[in-house]
Amino acid sequence: MLTREAGLAADVRVNDVRLWDSLMEMAKIGPGVAGGNNRQALTDADGEARALFRRWCEEAGMQVTVDQMGDIFACRPGTDSDAEAVCVGSHLDTQPAGGRFDGILGVLGGLEVVRTLNDHGVTSRRPIVVANWTNEEGSRFPPVMMASGVFAGVHSLEWAYARKDEQGKSFAEELERIGWKGAEPVGSRKFKAYVELHIEQGPVLEAEGIDIGVVTGGQGLTWLRVSLQGTSAHAGTTPMWRRKDAGLGAARIMDLVHQVAMSHQPHAVGTAGRVELCPNSTNSVPGSAEVAIDIRSPNASVLAEMEASIRGGAEAIVAKLGLGCEIARPQHAAPILFDAGCVATVREAAASLGYSRRDIVSSAGHDAYWLSRVTPAAMIMCPCVDGISHNEAEEISSVWAAAGANVLLHTVAKLASAADHHN
Ligand SMILES: [Zn+2]
Repeated sequence: MLTREAGLAADVRVNDVRLWDSLMEMAKIGPGVAGGNNRQALTDADGEARALFRRWCEEAGMQVTVDQMGDIFACRPGTDSDAEAVCVGSHLDTQPAGGRFDGILGVLGGLEVVRTLNDHGVTSRRPIVVANWTNEEGSRFPPVMMASGVFAGVHSLEWAYARKDEQGKSFAEELERIGWKGAEPVGSRKFKAYVELHIEQGPVLEAEGIDIGVVTGGQGLTWLRVSLQGTSAHAGTTPMWRRKDAGLGAARIMDLVHQVAMSHQPHAVGTAGRVELCPNSTNSVPGSAEVAIDIRSPNASVLAEMEASIRGGAEAIVAKLGLGCEIARPQHAAPILFDAGCVATVREAAASLGYSRRDIVSSAGHDAYWLSRVTPAAMIMCPCVDGISHNEAEEISSVWAAAGANVLLHTVAKLASAADHHN
């Protein structure tokens, strides 16, 4: 039997003009005030964007299903109806002053993959599903990556439904209102693999003139909250030797965070982004202080070392200054390591297409993080101008977008044709 499913010819490419036109068409929905988008989750604009996406998917011959969180799954059948699907996707919602590509490129890039396979009459053994995950941005309904989190079992459906926006409207009522509350139980479908194309949202690829970032994983994050107790006193009458200056302790700890991050280069970062002094008065010695610290690394043991160094260093600082000190850890997320097989497939696809490429670690959160808990996952990144994102000025070129979509195309074609023994 002669079929085209043996694989995708090496010279097949996405239609770059069609991809760009679709991105620009989508950007007309929920426009911002400065050329970007304000299309927050579960607004009327979100509903309109979803409807356009569904229409395009149906025109491409796909079957569209919606789950109870409003996640959209558009399916292109494979030749083996029992085989688990390969899923690609991202999100169509934006920040209140967001860009036209963050998330949208992954969804419409997935659609372009299907359109291209249709153009060339190529079938795949496995179904290919293009997904739009609800409320990735979390700006209206915190937290971020909400629906993919429910899909992966990180949050319960009931908890997500009860999240409220600033007006007090719940996620559940707004999902119902825009007409996108589906019937499919969340997380009930199983995928063979998940691949997400996304703009870098950082400056590395553009600065190095590289076409494709092969994302090996995501940074882990730890927040520490250091509470310092000294003695508030008159800034003029209290001799220096008598002072227990919590502000000075805070300053030394802020410097310590920087030193710790610098001693774990190249990938670690750290900052003390918020500090509060009490009584916060020019002519008072600060009696107490609170320092909020954010440290990140793609390597779990490095992250743990950084935390230990900061805790140890802080103890030494406060001992010298005669301060009391308590350290809390309000947030911790372990680093994400994507599936080695999927990452290798992305790397090979980029190489076979002749693109310049480098391994990269994602510094922002993505739906692929949660998906990686329940399915082998990988991400593809393309550059964005000056690394600007979460900003209406976010910009990419159609050449970059097409390169990313081409790597997605060849990665998906490979994964969807892979005939291994277990499904
Ligand atoms: Zn995004």
